[in-house]
Amino acid sequence: MTALLETRGVWQRFGGLIANSDVSISVGRGEIVGLIGPNGAGKSTLFNLIAGVLPPTQGSIIFDGEDVTNLPAAARCQRGIGRTFQVVKSFETMTVIDNVIVGALVRNTVMREARRKAHEVLEFTGLAARADVLASDLVPAEKRRLEVARALATEPKLLLLDEVLTGLTPTEAQTGVALVRKVRETGVTVLMVEHVMEIVMPLVDRAIVLDLGKVLAEGKPSDVVRDPNVIKAYLGD
Ligand code: ADP
Ligand code: MG
Repeated sequence: MTALLETRGVWQRFGGLIANSDVSISVGRGEIVGLIGPNGAGKSTLFNLIAGVLPPTQGSIIFDGEDVTNLPAAARCQRGIGRTFQVVKSFETMTVIDNVIVGALVRNTVMREARRKAHEVLEFTGLAARADVLASDLVPAEKRRLEVARALATEPKLLLLDEVLTGLTPTEAQTGVALVRKVRETGVTVLMVEHVMEIVMPLVDRAIVLDLGKVLAEGKPSDVVRDPNVIKAYLGD
């Protein structure tokens, strides 16, 4: 079986800065893969390249057997790439349910169907009781969950999570971890960025470490945390 996602020799330059440098990674169907690395390593940039927010300077993105490198973000979402943003992008002046309906409209053109799907997703993510609250009135942990809900409403095959567990209390983070596991049980593949290793390592099947825009290490979490290059990158040596 081919990988669900592959990046092949992907580069991203911002003027003189190289944010992604020859990045080739793959994510298998049904996996939870952690993309980790210090701040500025190029993790969010790689997400933007995968989701189609940015065209790569060079290289290609293969999703579900198709070269999607030249497809815009909306078309990739249609094909099954769902994502959250590190900086929460919910529509603050809209209710929780309406935020999720926006996601559901990607798949359901009939409003009644989109609303039904949105309610189902709110139930799944534990936000049902907050459906009619304005997004701006949610506490930070709920806002993160709303981001996940909105992405899930697009019915992704691949869910890209960018630091959805960062900055949460330990209890909130554990609730988030449980939600990610539950998402995978529904058959969705997960690629998640986190820079807090303690949270992400017990959760993921495989970890990919980015540093200075390059893949520094890749493998089983228990091996990756012992890799001398990874330790060095994290200690900022
Ligand atoms: P991470 O998510 O791993 O913290 P980012 O992908 O956000 O890292 O950033 C990688 C590098 O690229 C950083 O040096 C950042 O300042 C730079 N960068 C990210 N996006 C842009 C952009 N749109 N324009 C210019 N530089 C950018
Ligand atoms: Mg980032």
